Amino acid sequence: MTRSPDNGLSFFQFDQMLEHPQLRHAVFTRRNGCSSPPFSSLNTSFGVGDDPEHVKRNRQAIQSSLKARQMVFARQVHGVDVQVITSEKSENPMQADSVPSVVDAMATNLRHRFLTVQVADCQPVLLYDPHRKAVANVHAGWRGSIRNIVGRTVQAMQEAFQSDPGDIIAGVGPSLGPCCAEFRHYRREIPQRFWRYKDGDHHFDFWAISRDQLVAAGVGSENIQVSGICTRCHPELFFSYRGEGITGRFAAVIGLT
Ligand SMILES: [Zn+2]
Repeated sequence: MTRSPDNGLSFFQFDQMLEHPQLRHAVFTRRNGCSSPPFSSLNTSFGVGDDPEHVKRNRQAIQSSLKARQMVFARQVHGVDVQVITSEKSENPMQADSVPSVVDAMATNLRHRFLTVQVADCQPVLLYDPHRKAVANVHAGWRGSIRNIVGRTVQAMQEAFQSDPGDIIAGVGPSLGPCCAEFRHYRREIPQRFWRYKDGDHHFDFWAISRDQLVAAGVGSENIQVSGICTRCHPELFFSYRGEGITGRFAAVIGLT
């Protein structure tokens, strides 16, 4: 965990991604923001009932700690659509009056567009192609996972940027771990082909599912880093929907400079 010297925000980073100076990324903890309970404190979501002024200030703190020119948010709906941002026209700036796209994954090869995913148990999956200089950020909840949003995003990078999946490096951020991902109604919620990721206690390993989906999409297993930090087990660091119900969303951000 690293702490920003400017405003004390703390965040996790993936070792492999730090080797690329053009790339900037971070998975922010919930600490050192300005929101009050139950959103304390670095909540980045306008959709959970928090004071919008606090959310705005939190987003600005993240933007300044990354020295990001522009943050790009999406309205996440647990779908599998990928927004590809390739021209100035498809800009989606952070201004309060802008309407974010309804997608759960974003990809761009433009510099200074910092793609931001907001989560509390769902997986933020960061992707970077150092060869084609493109990034993507995925919001993968269990609904997105069983529809392979991670693989679809790799495919979108292939189509839009001619990315070779073998070049892509991937980071799976803090999210609900196999320790806490219990699905009592898995028989009607989770397709049978995923039941092999279940232990005897109805807990699913969605980290392994993402890893396998990335490998199936052509990403080298040596290029995949899974943080292995369970959000529900670490409420002092991260928001957890399962653990807290009404709570905030923390931010995972990736962009090119
Ligand atoms: Zn856990």
